[in-house]
Amino acid sequence: MAKDKRNVNENTSEEFTGIKLTKPASYAAGARGVKVALEHAVGEMGAVRAFQTLAKLNQVGGIDCPGCAWPDPDDKRSVLGEYCENGAKALAEEATLKRVTTDFFAEHSVTEMSNWSDFKIGKSGRLTHPMVLEKGATHYKPISWEDAFKLIGKELSGLNDPNEAIFYTSGRSSNEAAFLYGLFARAYGTLNMPDCSNMCHESSGVALSSTVGIGKGSVTLDDLHKAEVVIVIGQNPGTNHPRMLTALAKCKDAGGKVISINPLEEAGLKRFKNPQSVSDMLTLGTAITDVFLRVRINEDIPLLKAIQKKLIALDKEDSGVLDHDFIVDQTVGFKAMKSDLNKYELDELIDQSGVEEEAIDDAVDILAPAKKIIICWAMGLTQHKNGVENIKECVNLLLMKGSIGKEGAGTCPVRGHSNVQGDRSVGIVHTPSKAIASSLKKAFDIDVPMEHGYDTVHSIMAMHDKKAKVFIALGGNFLSAAPDTAYTAKALSNCKLTVSVSTKLNRTHMVTGKTALILPTLGRSEKDESNGKNRFVTVENSMGKVHTSHGSLDPASAHLMSEPEIVANIAYATLGENSKVDWLSLGSDYDAIRDVIADVVGGFEDYNKRVVKDSGFYLPNNAREGDFTKVKGRKARFSVCSLPDHELEADEFLLTTIRSHDQFNTTIYGLDDRYRGVYNERRVVFMNPNDMKYHKLKKLDIVDITSHYDGKTRLAPKFLVVPYQIPSQNLACYFPEANTLVPIDQFADGSHTPISKSVKVKIKKVQT
Ligand code: SF4
Repeated sequence: MAKDKRNVNENTSEEFTGIKLTKPASYAAGARGVKVALEHAVGEMGAVRAFQTLAKLNQVGGIDCPGCAWPDPDDKRSVLGEYCENGAKALAEEATLKRVTTDFFAEHSVTEMSNWSDFKIGKSGRLTHPMVLEKGATHYKPISWEDAFKLIGKELSGLNDPNEAIFYTSGRSSNEAAFLYGLFARAYGTLNMPDCSNMCHESSGVALSSTVGIGKGSVTLDDLHKAEVVIVIGQNPGTNHPRMLTALAKCKDAGGKVISINPLEEAGLKRFKNPQSVSDMLTLGTAITDVFLRVRINEDIPLLKAIQKKLIALDKEDSGVLDHDFIVDQTVGFKAMKSDLNKYELDELIDQSGVEEEAIDDAVDILAPAKKIIICWAMGLTQHKNGVENIKECVNLLLMKGSIGKEGAGTCPVRGHSNVQGDRSVGIVHTPSKAIASSLKKAFDIDVPMEHGYDTVHSIMAMHDKKAKVFIALGGNFLSAAPDTAYTAKALSNCKLTVSVSTKLNRTHMVTGKTALILPTLGRSEKDESNGKNRFVTVENSMGKVHTSHGSLDPASAHLMSEPEIVANIAYATLGENSKVDWLSLGSDYDAIRDVIADVVGGFEDYNKRVVKDSGFYLPNNAREGDFTKVKGRKARFSVCSLPDHELEADEFLLTTIRSHDQFNTTIYGLDDRYRGVYNERRVVFMNPNDMKYHKLKKLDIVDITSHYDGKTRLAPKFLVVPYQIPSQNLACYFPEANTLVPIDQFADGSHTPISKSVKVKIKKVQT
């Protein structure tokens, strides 16, 4: 059958795209960043549309950036533009003038499109019409919305058990769509609600909930400006959260210091040339990092323990190095943590971390007198077997310094997708909650299921084992985002029906269930009109502030439907007229959805009123207030964390996946990684020059990469070797190309986040 030939990722391509290498960049942004941003925006949208739309990006009453979840300033916004290069690229992707029409689908078979690169698939343009891929068909064909909803309703109603359905959410969906979707899944009878945070910050949520009583960060943007020290660990803000550099530069201007901890020294953390600052543009810009600690992949815990040991050793009477009042009054577990620390020899910890002791001492000199410390982190800490403990060790450091619950101090997990935090806040969660159950019972008289649903990894396993048969994705490119690409592809193809609610074509549309639907939806930048009224949606940023997003462009096609309406129609088609929820009325009236959220989700009181006032409102945050009574023991908790164990043979490496500067999650904007000096190619493996020598490899040699876990070998063929300053026996490859090496059954303890940042691999030179 034609479907069997579908390509699950582009790794099998024989072609390279023409690599060029230069020296890595020494700074981020600057005039080049502005030029690239405008090239993308104007190239996709045309000049007038580009400038008009960019002017509204991240402004109060404007369009929330569809990129990352970095917050906007609370007070005034810059008239020159409140966006970064990658925000402009994200908007350009969504507001492109290119269209994937019904003719396009008639012309290209699914198998043909599956052989295109992710870049080419994404560049095809905006989807314009609901499409169906019928069982055994080679091409998608148009379907009416009515028939699409009927088909979904029939399949969902026909399942033996509601737990045979999976309802996935990407972090793009608004609070309104996500709440309705969660309400529908619960009314239908399942908590199988995996979401993209299962693959990214779930480890942060688990660690922070149990140590400080809230699974979100505690700081605001203003805190970053006021911190004495910001530690950026396992994060590359220059590419993934670029406007964070503005906040770090502001912190530096006010006398703050920045310590960066990462296996790769990234350009954005070296120096930042703010395009909005005349002096930055005329000079070398702002040096961001004061001390860089090049840690080995996943050896952050030994490094943090070494720092803690040194701080404790400096803590003489009245020295103020540790905050003893805070430790005594506000925390539990310090003694146990300290006595565990005594078990380790300092030299061994330093050796395991891979960092020079002198550099550690420089960091300790900065940290010892500081009273206001913020730790920022991302996937570099969360996507490991010990992802939860990585975060707990960061919390240990903050707690011993009394650096949480006060201005300029606290935790800062930096979220990747623009509303990933909001979706979770309004109920996209696979674990049972008595609070949600009782409020939905009260509001709708719905009995909510109370057994644990599947997270992302377990959803894939359930589909693979044919325990789940219908997969619905509210946004996202599930196949490319998920680990173990071939396994995930098999899982999706085992389904009876797969449904994607999407703005653009992506690889998940090519590797489908027996029958597949693509339901095209409005983008953030587009007008969302009903009865002549322009509706707006709301989102929550990485720092817990809820605000509006108003689209202003004409929709890409007259056949698009908004996400809340799509969800409401699926619910209506499945649960029928006798459902206790009036789905169709609710789906069309976002004020009404927000009123329901206000009734059933804590912290959203007076939602409709507060969200349009000023620039929105902050959700309650106990850790920000220094209230830890929600934690077991009613105080913040120190944790005893183990050292990671990565015994490597001489021919083994630990591989981390990374994003290039020309991508956002699974969306590939281009083939350049300007900051790392790699142009026009994505199938590269970054390798230490000494390791290259040891393995007799030269620059741009071709290697196959294999991972070996539990008796199974996974292969990512044909990567070009790029010499790079990365610790010995560490490698880096781009996501999603290397996802195929991440075993589905290797994930973080306690959070089930795939271990995409520490995959044990081997390499083999391909003879050419
Ligand atoms: S920092 Fe993130 S939210 Fe802000 S403009 Fe850039 S991509 Fe968009």
